Amino acid sequence: MGRRRREAFLVSSTRQSGCAFCDIVAGDDLAARIVARGHGVTVFLPDHPATRGHVLLVPDEHVADVWGLSQGAARTLASEVLRVAGAARDALQPDGLNVIQSNGAAATQSIDHVHVHVVPRWTADDMGEIWPSPDPSWSPAQLDAMQGDLRVAVEASKPNGYDMTNEQDREDRRKHLDLISGAIGRMAGSSSAAKGWSITLAGAAFGVALVRHSWPLIALGIVILAAFAALDVRYLGNERRARSVYDQVADDNSVVPLSLKGLANTSGSSSTWQPSWYTTWSILYFYGPLALVGGALLVLALLAGPAEESGTSSPCGETSSQQR
Ligand SMILES: [Zn+2]
Ligand SMILES: [Zn+2]
Repeated sequence: MGRRRREAFLVSSTRQSGCAFCDIVAGDDLAARIVARGHGVTVFLPDHPATRGHVLLVPDEHVADVWGLSQGAARTLASEVLRVAGAARDALQPDGLNVIQSNGAAATQSIDHVHVHVVPRWTADDMGEIWPSPDPSWSPAQLDAMQGDLRVAVEASKPNGYDMTNEQDREDRRKHLDLISGAIGRMAGSSSAAKGWSITLAGAAFGVALVRHSWPLIALGIVILAAFAALDVRYLGNERRARSVYDQVADDNSVVPLSLKGLANTSGSSSTWQPSWYTTWSILYFYGPLALVGGALLVLALLAGPAEESGTSSPCGETSSQQR
């Protein structure tokens, strides 16, 4: 059967061995009836659908429950729930539909990989009562306490990021992204300037060294290249940091509004510096060949010996006798 063919998918980095839903996400459960994949969410039929069209949605990354979801993962999951609920309505014309999401054994969660049940409903389907009957009774004081406790807790847990339903927040977000774009542009400009100056200064040092047959000047040129490469790596690092903050604002919406924290390495610590930055193309392929030229000149100059004392050819073909 086509739908039971084993499909190969990228194994999520957070896959938990023994997790039935991770197995389904990975394509390892050959019996799983997958309905849809994409946007980091997998949709499939449960082993025993409670109603016609009952499906489960799970994030492809293993997260135990609703408390483990990031803002971004929660948004994606919620919008996929919306999509599947709409599709189920179109395909099955149910009388109603439940969205059920359970966390913890007390709430009847049976698989510890967060999931959402989308359950199309019919007036005479096999689902039982969901809510207690009769309703529990609460005193006004109990209701006041309930409301007060939750109000305080919800207010205190305001997520970072912008409230996209609020016009002022959306405007602030645009400004924030502009600020970060500006920073990215400045870092890129500084990086270009570093490259320009390194060519100018190292080129001058090499040029004068050739004319004067002075190997210390060649060495100076190489030191200049190394210094600008180090500076450029720093600009590059800041540019990368700024780009990642941009993504956090634009995609994850997980940054404190208008905060520029994390944009540049202002602490002076090198904790986020990575040696691999030296091997990125914009550093390695720019400074590398220049340094190789300098190194070759240096070797030639040293092999030729002190120009003042020898009559042999110097690297540039002049002889010492031509020097004044
Ligand atoms: Zn899992
Ligand atoms: Zn469940």
